[in-house]
Amino acid sequence: MSLVMPEPDASVLARRADIVRALRSIVPGEAVIDDPDGLRPYESDGLTAYRQPPMVVVLPETTEQVSRILAWCHAEGVKIVPRGSGTSLSGGALPLADAVLVGMARFNRVLDIDYEDRLAVVQPGVTNLAVTRAVEDRGFYYAPDPSSQIACSIGGNVAENSGGVHCLKYGLTTNNVLGVEIVLMDGEVVRLGGRQLDPAGLDLLGVVVGSEGLLGIVTEVTVRILPRPEGARALLIGFPTVEGAGLCVADVIAAGIIPAGMEMMDRPAIHAAEAFVQVGYPLDVEALLIVELDGVAAECDHLIDEVAAIARANGSTTLRLSADDDERMGFWAGRKAAFPAVGRLSPDYYCMDGTIPRRRLPDVLEKMRELSDHYGLGVANVFHAGDGNLHPLIMYDANIPGQLERAEAFGNDILRQCVAVGGVLTGEHGVGVEKRDLMPEMFSETDLKQQQRLKCAFDPKLLLNPGKVFPTLHRCAELGRMHVHHGALPFPDLPRF
Ligand SMILES: Cc1cc2nc3c(=O)[nH]c(=O)nc-3n(C[C@H](O)[C@H](O)[C@H](O)COP(=O)(O)OP(=O)(O)OC[C@H]3O[C@@H](n4cnc5c(N)ncnc54)[C@H](O)[C@@H]3O)c2cc1C
Repeated sequence: MSLVMPEPDASVLARRADIVRALRSIVPGEAVIDDPDGLRPYESDGLTAYRQPPMVVVLPETTEQVSRILAWCHAEGVKIVPRGSGTSLSGGALPLADAVLVGMARFNRVLDIDYEDRLAVVQPGVTNLAVTRAVEDRGFYYAPDPSSQIACSIGGNVAENSGGVHCLKYGLTTNNVLGVEIVLMDGEVVRLGGRQLDPAGLDLLGVVVGSEGLLGIVTEVTVRILPRPEGARALLIGFPTVEGAGLCVADVIAAGIIPAGMEMMDRPAIHAAEAFVQVGYPLDVEALLIVELDGVAAECDHLIDEVAAIARANGSTTLRLSADDDERMGFWAGRKAAFPAVGRLSPDYYCMDGTIPRRRLPDVLEKMRELSDHYGLGVANVFHAGDGNLHPLIMYDANIPGQLERAEAFGNDILRQCVAVGGVLTGEHGVGVEKRDLMPEMFSETDLKQQQRLKCAFDPKLLLNPGKVFPTLHRCAELGRMHVHHGALPFPDLPRF
């Protein structure tokens, strides 16, 4: 692997037996795994190009156990990698050889549902879809819907600030989380936010959502639940050019319409998805938009007419409106299965995640075509087009020497291009290890140091998920260093505590 991770600490590895014993005294039974076969399922997450068996896995069941594990590791200088369901596509849950992997799968209970306040309190190991399943018989649902929703955990969603096809209208995880309980690295249990809107003080909840397991371990999450819209209909719109589809997306938003979802697929992705699920996608187009409008029937009908007119003005050649919910779900089935569908075209694929201003879509796609020729690797594109969030799927064969490295270089060039046109390195999959070394493309050294100071405020010994997000980790003392010259403190008038 081309990725450089922090060197394992030999003194920690030498204490492995003691560490396992200490963990067993906190979490009894079979919840501490240290045999090589038992560790193997944890050696990678959804970014399977990178693998590293953890030193030991522990599967706590209570907040108290998490607190005691972290407090012990803090005192002993042992690193921690938190893990939910292990579906991260940026390597956020990639283990370290000298770290304890804390798996949160046993935190799998829905604790409370409050329909009056429209919220649910869940443990972090509950899967995303299970939240909707728990409230759907009363006509409610949990809005953020990653394509991995059948498997990914709410704790992982909070850590990655995950999104999905319906986040254009209903917001990402950060817009749908009201509160968390989080255990800090020294074992302190903290509650941020709660059952009401806008708690007093600094927005630390906003800091924790998207913090990629670097600030603490989330042990409880309070999420908003929403009533299902009265109705929803989807349009399947084909275009002879990607440019036309890209401009249509920009014009829909410019017209003040916020569809429930607005997704785009390019020709390779359309063909792969249609071969996989056979839902009747047109095969003679270069780009396909799925646009879902929801609300009361009159509102849906009105918006459908508006979107159809905008599509025609941008040169659409096919347009199909879902007749009923089954057909609407069919339209989505192809999009949601696009990743596995592309998996049938190529032994391996590398899923990238970058965000661009919507109008720049045609330029970025053109650049991607050039890069595809340059690297000699195919690429299929699916996008959360309304959000400008790209997911190029770079196809390669890991068994052919050099192809993984070429796929990585191709992916890095795509992300550089996203930043160059005014976008950002990630839309929803996080930085993890995948985009770690590209952070300087977007942030100056000063920016990165400021972000690390925040990390230091939560985890001064840098024991939580090291090697992720930051390309280089400065010791916290270096960042907060205070110079005393000839016994004189800088800024002597400031009060000191
Ligand atoms: C087929 C496929 C489709 C996907 N589609 C989407 C999509 O549409 N949208 C999207 O946003 N993502 C998508 N993903 C990516 C992934 O599912 C999300 O990032 C998801 O939120 C990860 O959740 P997880 O439980 O698997 O977390 P993990 O992979 O286990 O961990 C992810 C990160 O969260 C941290 N973490 C996990 N649990 C906790 C906790 N309790 N406390 C603190 N930190 C924690 C880990 O340390 C790691 O940094 C997809 C993945 C796959 C494989």
